[in-house]
Amino acid sequence: MRAVVLREFGGPEVLRVSEFETPKPGPGEVLVRVKAVGVNRLDVWIRSGKYRISPPHIPGTDVAGVVEEVGDGVGNVAVGDRVVVYPLENCGACEYCMRGEESMCINSRLLGRHMNGGYAEYVKVRADMAFKIPDNVGFREAAATPVNFLTSWHMLFNRARIGPGDRILVVGGGSGIGYAAIELAKLVGATVIATVGDDWKVGKAESIGADYVINRRKEDVHEAVMRITGGEGVDIVFEHAGKDVWPTAIKVLKRGGTLVFAGATSGDEVKVSIRQLYWNQLNLHGSFLGNRSEFRKILRLLAEGRIRPVIDSIYSLEDASEAHRRMEASKHFGKIVLEP
Ligand SMILES: [Zn+2]
Repeated sequence: MRAVVLREFGGPEVLRVSEFETPKPGPGEVLVRVKAVGVNRLDVWIRSGKYRISPPHIPGTDVAGVVEEVGDGVGNVAVGDRVVVYPLENCGACEYCMRGEESMCINSRLLGRHMNGGYAEYVKVRADMAFKIPDNVGFREAAATPVNFLTSWHMLFNRARIGPGDRILVVGGGSGIGYAAIELAKLVGATVIATVGDDWKVGKAESIGADYVINRRKEDVHEAVMRITGGEGVDIVFEHAGKDVWPTAIKVLKRGGTLVFAGATSGDEVKVSIRQLYWNQLNLHGSFLGNRSEFRKILRLLAEGRIRPVIDSIYSLEDASEAHRRMEASKHFGKIVLEP
């Protein structure tokens, strides 16, 4: 099969298509013919060698496609089914799996990181990771869903417990998880303030429901949030940019407010004032991906048209390096998708 096989780590130019042996599904596994695969920051980290992975390796965590072949004992999907892949292979037996918190599974393996992913014509996954795509949802939209909506859902509803009337600052409203957070926060009646880094993204963020949009390159985010909230600050900050954003994120929270975070694009070591944290009784919630039950609900909302993945651009596998350059330059709004 054709695949983007990392044989070395480095810049976008190491993303090259070559021949790779098509995987064979064993018992309990399925082979998926990839129709669309989403690009994530994680893929950039993997490509640049930030993780300990030995080449050859195929990245790609967000996969939608058609079941091509099933192994013995597979009952939940059949050949020809359109499926989207829940990206975590969890053990089903640890304390966290037992309570339905698969994203905390201590034995989990992530598609595209701990196993070969979907930058390829075919990918092999455990059958219980394959969920049927609703009939009215396309492959591109399905591939734009798992990482972004799972991560945002888990951050907002499982960790930060957002509700009607809450005011939330969504950092990086144009990123994949940022736009998903805007859509999900609006679903439950929160007031959304989003930051973006370009003027043209302001209207885009407003069009998917953001109540206020701040261009962080033109306006001081702290001042803008205080002006918008009448000096109160926000209940929740939704954050994935890391180091550069934390000082502001903590400053714009009201007392008892919550910082929920799932990423550290700009760096992962930050200086904080503990006094400021306890004096203001702030909550810090780390978050990672999401659970199967959350994925089911996301797919239902997708089928009902109540959430809509925003597709930024489509590239072929051969142009995967261009797709990565676009993401690294933050030129995108929404999901960048590859089509094998
Ligand atoms: Zn487990």
